[in-house]
Amino acid sequence: MKILMYNSVDKEVSYVKAWAAKTGHEVVTVFEPLSVDNVDKAQGFDAVTTQQTTDVPAPIYQKLASYGIKQIALRQVGYDVFDLPAAFSNHIRLSNVAAYSPRAIAEYTLTQLFNILRNNKKFDRAMATGDYTWAAGGQVREIYQLTVAVIGVGRIGTAFAQMLHALGAKVLAVDPIYHAQNEAFVEYTTLDDALSRANVISFHTPLNAETQGLADQDFFAKVQPETIMLNMARGGIVDMDALESALLSGQLYGAAFDVTPNENEFMDQKQAVAELPENIQRLIQLDNFYLSPHIAFYTNTAIKNMVEIALDDAVIMANGGHTENEILR
Ligand code: NAD
Repeated sequence: MKILMYNSVDKEVSYVKAWAAKTGHEVVTVFEPLSVDNVDKAQGFDAVTTQQTTDVPAPIYQKLASYGIKQIALRQVGYDVFDLPAAFSNHIRLSNVAAYSPRAIAEYTLTQLFNILRNNKKFDRAMATGDYTWAAGGQVREIYQLTVAVIGVGRIGTAFAQMLHALGAKVLAVDPIYHAQNEAFVEYTTLDDALSRANVISFHTPLNAETQGLADQDFFAKVQPETIMLNMARGGIVDMDALESALLSGQLYGAAFDVTPNENEFMDQKQAVAELPENIQRLIQLDNFYLSPHIAFYTNTAIKNMVEIALDDAVIMANGGHTENEILR
């Protein structure tokens, strides 16, 4: 089978070659995302895959169908780039890679929790000015003393909760979906109860109507003094003005965010500080706020799985088969 891989990036190439050698399929890579301007490159191929943040509009599905292509395999989770009605009306089946490495995000969340807990940014900044004393940060808490509220205990939240439990922390789980097997390492409770007891709050939910702006002023009013907030999920979950106030007032001990609202304006790009959104410029000045450029997922396991799962699904769906990664609505 001949597969065209749109928006291929250097870090994927070795995994693509290994997959092609293993399966005997041919993969041709192009470096631009799938667009109206380059969909014609798919002529003569049996299947396509892409990863992109730009939309895949209606004419693309019509063209792919006219070339006899029956699917698009996305090498990422978020599939809001697709026009689902247009795809389905043209009989183009879609897939995503819903779970490429939950541990990757969980490990990074843990990394940032320790960075905040141990005041690493404060010490780095002090040492950069020649201050090697212990003055930059006070005595800190150890992880077994912490109660952590994991908001959203799905794939990533579960992996994070297991790591915390293994380290001796008390873990509170907030999720409308209950998994009995998680009782071995979490205590399920309500959001309000979790906020009243937690020293750390970590978001691992999707962004949806319920979670959009979930952490607003009312939410922050309920959290304990000196709470640590972690958001590796989606920027829109947290009201950034309320976050800034909570960091400045000392209600939050610190926060680490891998995602922000409107992050597509600057994440994964070279960007002068002065061109960042003004609230982000202010936040990154704070020595108890960590911003990272949406890299929680970025491990060799995750990239390998994104490539292999998407290519496997491309073959399965082009052959009319079933994959659990198919997007059905
Ligand atoms: P998942 O679907 O496995 O789990 C999400 C969980 O959130 C589900 O159990 C769901 O029931 C729960 N949930 C939904 N609404 C809720 C609410 N209002 N309150 C509490 N829980 C709620 O998803 P996942 O794979 O674990 O991903 C979680 C988040 O991590 C997503 O937002 C995803 O986009 C993000 N993510 C970030 C990165 C990164 O690099 N920073 C990488 C991958 C995924």
